[in-house]
Amino acid sequence: MAKKILIIGGGVAGLSAGIYARLNGFDALILEKHTIAGGVCTAWYRKGYRFDYSIQWLVGTREGAFHQTFKDTNVINDDVKILNADYHTRVVLPDGDDMVVYTDIDKWCDYLIKRAPEDERSIKKLRRHMHWSKQLTPFDAAPPLRSIWMYLSLLPRVYKLLWAVFRFGGKTYKEYIDSLGFKNEWLRNALMRNYADDKFSALAFLFILSWYTRKNAGYPIGGSLGVAERMHQRYTELGGEVRFKSNVSEIIVENDKAVGVRLDDGTEIRADYVISAADGYTTIFDFLKGKYLSEEVKHAYEHWEPYPAIVQISLGVNAKLETQYPVQVILGERKISDRVSIRHNYRILNYSFDHTMAPEGKTCVVIRFESPYDLWKDMDKETYDFEKENIKRYALQLLEENYPGHSADVEVCDVATPLTTVRYTGAWRGSYEGFKVSNRNITAQLSQTLPGLDNFYMVGHWLFPGGGVPPSVHSGKWALQLICKKEGKPVRFSL
Ligand SMILES: Cc1cc2nc3c(=O)[nH]c(=O)nc-3n(C[C@H](O)[C@H](O)[C@H](O)COP(=O)(O)OP(=O)(O)OC[C@H]3O[C@@H](n4cnc5c(N)ncnc54)[C@H](O)[C@@H]3O)c2cc1C
Repeated sequence: MAKKILIIGGGVAGLSAGIYARLNGFDALILEKHTIAGGVCTAWYRKGYRFDYSIQWLVGTREGAFHQTFKDTNVINDDVKILNADYHTRVVLPDGDDMVVYTDIDKWCDYLIKRAPEDERSIKKLRRHMHWSKQLTPFDAAPPLRSIWMYLSLLPRVYKLLWAVFRFGGKTYKEYIDSLGFKNEWLRNALMRNYADDKFSALAFLFILSWYTRKNAGYPIGGSLGVAERMHQRYTELGGEVRFKSNVSEIIVENDKAVGVRLDDGTEIRADYVISAADGYTTIFDFLKGKYLSEEVKHAYEHWEPYPAIVQISLGVNAKLETQYPVQVILGERKISDRVSIRHNYRILNYSFDHTMAPEGKTCVVIRFESPYDLWKDMDKETYDFEKENIKRYALQLLEENYPGHSADVEVCDVATPLTTVRYTGAWRGSYEGFKVSNRNITAQLSQTLPGLDNFYMVGHWLFPGGGVPPSVHSGKWALQLICKKEGKPVRFSL
C-alpha cells in the first residue's frame, strides 16, 4: 500500500510537495485553510478585473534548476508566454527627478554613465560586480544530499560569484554603494534611497539584475493566480487531493515522530509523513509548541526580521492607461490619516503589460506600501473601516498624480490590509515573503527538518531569507528527495 503524506498548506510550496509526492507514488493530501490554492501567490476578481498579489518577476523562467522544477510542477509550460521587460523600475525622487533601472546590466550602466559621467570608473566597477553575480546557480539537490563533488564541480563556473560573496557577503547595500564613492549627487541620492531598508544586503542587490540580464527572471502572462491554478491542476491530474477550509491546529507527535494532524474542529488525520508548508512561526511554535528547536531556528526567529506587512490598493480603471514604466517606486513620506502613513515610498504598478488582468480598453493599477502589522492587529471594526475609506480616498489622489485626469475613471477600488493577508493565509505578522534578506542572513538557509522529530519536513519561503516563488517551489522537490532517500527509493521528477 502507498504511504501517505499530509501537507499543511496549499501555497506554491505545498502544491509542489504534493506534486512530487504523487510523482513518487505516495498518497498525498493537502489541508488548506482557505477556499482556493496558492497562498500569497494569488489574485482576486472584482467586476471583471483581476488584481494580482505576487509575481512581478520569476527567477528561473529560462534555465537552471528552478526552471526544471517549474516545468515539473506546471508553474510554467510551453503555452505560458513569458515577458522579459526592458525596465525593472523607475524610481521617482521627492524632487521630481527620476532614475530608471533597466533590466540589462550594461544598458543600465551606460544610462548611469550618461547621467553621471564623472562617476564612470565607479559605475564600471558596479557593472563588473553585477556580471560576477551572474554565475549564481541554484542546486537541484536538497542540502543534506549534496556531495563535496557537487560543490567542487561547480567551482570553475562560479569562482567569480564566490569572489563576490567573499567581498560583499557581509556588506549592506548602503555600505556597498558608499564604498563605490560616487561623486554625482543625483546618482548617490537615487541609489541610496532606492532601498529604504538599512540592512538590505549588497549581494541581494547585485543578484537582482544578474538574473534579469540572463533573461531568466521574466513575468509569466496570467500572473500569480495563473501559476497557482496550473500547479493545482497538475496536482489533481496526478491524483492528489486538496481539502479546503481545513484549518490545522496541531501536528500529532507520538514517540518523537509526526504521525498526523489535528484540525481546529478536532478532526484527526493520520499519515506516514507530515510536511508543513504553512508559515514557519505557526508550524514551529504553534503546531509543535516549540518543542523541537535547533539553535539556528531559535536564532532566526529571535534575530531575523520578517518582511513587513503591506497595504495593497487595487484600482480598476475604465480607460487604457499607457506607460513606458509598468513598475514605479515613488519615494517620499505621506500621511494618509493620523494613524496610517506611507513611510518611505509606495510602488505603483500598471498591469497593461498583461492583457489577462483587465477587460479590453480597461486597466488594472496596483499601489502598494508597507504598513506595520502592529498598527492593524488590534484595530476595532469601526476604525478599520474608517482607515480603509481614508486609504481609498487617498488612492484616487495618488492615481491622479501618476495618471492625471483618470481618477474619475476608477470603477473599482479594493483595499487589502495586513489583516487581509493574515485572514486568508495565516502569514506570521502579515509578512508577504518570509524573512527579510539582510547582510547577516543572505547566505543562510534553514533546515527542512527539526532536531529530534522524525517523519516531519518543512517547505516554503520561511526557510530562505528573501523568500519568493522559486525557492518555495523548489523546497517541495527537496522534501520529496529527502523522503525518498529515507524510504530507500530513487526519486522521480516525472511520470
Ligand atoms: C505583494 C507580493 C509580491 C511578491 N512578489 C514576488 C515576486 O515578484 N517574485 C517572487 O518570486 N515572489 C514574490 N512574492 C513572494 C511569493 O509569492 C512567496 O514567497 C511564495 O508564494 C510563498 O509561498 P509558500 O507556499 O511558501 O507560502 P504561502 O503562500 O504563505 O502558503 C502557505 C499556505 O498555507 C496555508 N495555511 C497557513 N496556515 C494554515 C493552517 N493552520 N491550516 C491549513 N492551511 C494553512 C495558507 O492559507 C497558505 O495557502 C511576492 C509576494 C507578495 C505578497
